[in-house]
Amino acid sequence: MQCYILGFLFINKLKLKIMCNSIIINLGEKEIGTPREFLKHFGFMLEKNIDKTGMDCCLCNYDLEKTLNENKIPFKNDCGDLYVGMLEKLKWT
Ligand SMILES: [Zn+2]
Repeated sequence: MQCYILGFLFINKLKLKIMCNSIIINLGEKEIGTPREFLKHFGFMLEKNIDKTGMDCCLCNYDLEKTLNENKIPFKNDCGDLYVGMLEKLKWT
């Protein structure tokens, strides 16, 4: 829960961050927030049968960890955001 509290303080401080799950590429170089962006970056669909409107919705309704695991993409989960890419360069407290 500590993770959640820190995240909450962070959000309050910046008042920018949307409370939605996203996939962060490398050190924040790119942020993936929709199935369309996911497809563009990874080259495959997040889940089969996502309709046109679903392509631009947020990622909260999808099991991102399962998809990444199934496709053998290494990631780290931080407060619901999944980091992909240069994991060794990220600092984890
Ligand atoms: Zn959302």
